[in-house]
Amino acid sequence: MQQREMYINGQWVGAISGRTFDTLNPSTAEPLGTVPYAEAADVDAAVRAARAAFPVWSGMTQGERNKVLYRIAALIREHADEMATLEGLEHGTPYKDAFGVCMGAAEKFEWSANAAAALKGDELPVPNANTLSFIKREPVGVIGFITPWNLPTIMTAVKLAPAIALGNCAVLKPPSINSLIGLKFAEVISKAEGLPNGVVNVITGSGSVAGNALASHPDVDMIGFTGSSETGKSILAAAAPTVKKTVMELGGNNPVIIYPDADLDAAIKVLAWRQFNNSGQHCSGPGRYYVHERVYDAFAAKFKVYAESLKIGDPSDKSVDMGPLVSREHQQKVSGYIQGAIDDGATLLFGGEASENGFFITPTILTNCRHDMTAAREEIFGPVAVLIPFTDADDIVALANDSNYGLCAHVWTRDIGAGMKLIGKLHVGAVFINCQMLTNEQPWGTSIRESGIGKEGGTYGLLEFTDAKLVCVNYN
Ligand code: NAP
Repeated sequence: MQQREMYINGQWVGAISGRTFDTLNPSTAEPLGTVPYAEAADVDAAVRAARAAFPVWSGMTQGERNKVLYRIAALIREHADEMATLEGLEHGTPYKDAFGVCMGAAEKFEWSANAAAALKGDELPVPNANTLSFIKREPVGVIGFITPWNLPTIMTAVKLAPAIALGNCAVLKPPSINSLIGLKFAEVISKAEGLPNGVVNVITGSGSVAGNALASHPDVDMIGFTGSSETGKSILAAAAPTVKKTVMELGGNNPVIIYPDADLDAAIKVLAWRQFNNSGQHCSGPGRYYVHERVYDAFAAKFKVYAESLKIGDPSDKSVDMGPLVSREHQQKVSGYIQGAIDDGATLLFGGEASENGFFITPTILTNCRHDMTAAREEIFGPVAVLIPFTDADDIVALANDSNYGLCAHVWTRDIGAGMKLIGKLHVGAVFINCQMLTNEQPWGTSIRESGIGKEGGTYGLLEFTDAKLVCVNYN
């Protein structure tokens, strides 16, 4: 059992109350580590440390901060093996994926440093002579980050890297079930020479106590959150009395449209991988598939062949493709969706088994599903493909848009013109046609429906961490 402390103001400390809680290994359901249980007083200490560090860090030049970000990237690469192993132990990500995720996390720091250095100001036209008006970009200040358990290392990097690149200071609350991963991240980056104490603080505790204290803290300027839409609403309510800026990356139930002329092999390669990689715990992954009846059986058969090929097991085994789900609670929730769909008339084409030892669910394919089934309406966030046949392409946009969410949509067709025409009709924040990728340059997130507010990643996401101060100078 690992015993860890929190990282506040450059020091490793326990909770003021002395309280702790355990995290589990999802492959075995056995305790893995013990971490401090932060409450309001601990959150306050972390926020005060970040506030004190802010003038120092934001006062450094971009070049000085970038040297530190580059050192952080190098440290993540140096410790990627330990970080990836822990991501497997506490989150269940197979090592081969987790290692790549750590490399991606390192890149986020380099990319953010370079992108911050490339930001330019704007001069604004004014009608008066001898008057100059321009935008001065300033860091927002102290940012509270509250992150979800899916892919915890990259979720941390995608938030922290751009925020600190621009001179902000941070207090991060990782998901309680993946607290060790959050503290490991703090340990690795704390070794970066030149990173002042208090710029990054990591506290562990429950969402309802530590997360809520962070979201409502009067000296936090902004909340960056990724998680479910329900929690997002609580955080918005907590942040409202002090009118904080928020960037919210929330839930999704992403429609996939498979036209009869789609390249099914190419589609399966992308979609089935996304469906089962990380046990389907991906916000950008497929949620519900509308498959044209002419290719429905062929698509389902190819999906099954893919699912059969996967090796499920211990994430530390480098040949394993799929590990467990993150928790017993999540495993039971996903199993409930599978059983509910079967009760509603769906056919279990493959998988559907939940383990008693550990939190595994085998890759699952449900056929003969309908749009009105709960499994098609809600976010399953697991290794479950929900295949719905359709006949009339004219109906499909209405079905795709009929959701509380609007995160992204996937379209597969060889008729690029037909695909392009859907872009404007799909009420979502991102459309992937015949591919799916998310690069450092591409912004993610949307303000559509209950899927969030604002952007994360790319230059759009970077700008969320700055305040555009208007300056107007008359120099007559
Ligand atoms: P979650 O239950 O909403 O939890 C997310 C974070 O919020 C955790 O750190 C949690 O702490 C904390 N929290 C819970 N209640 C809180 C409260 N009242 N006040 C402040 N913080 C609180 O989400 P999850 O189950 O970890 O993650 C899965 C969800 O994230 C899915 O809905 C998925 O779609 C979404 N997601 C969205 C994106 C995107 O980019 N849009 C990306 C990834 C995931 P505890 O862990 O202690 O409960």
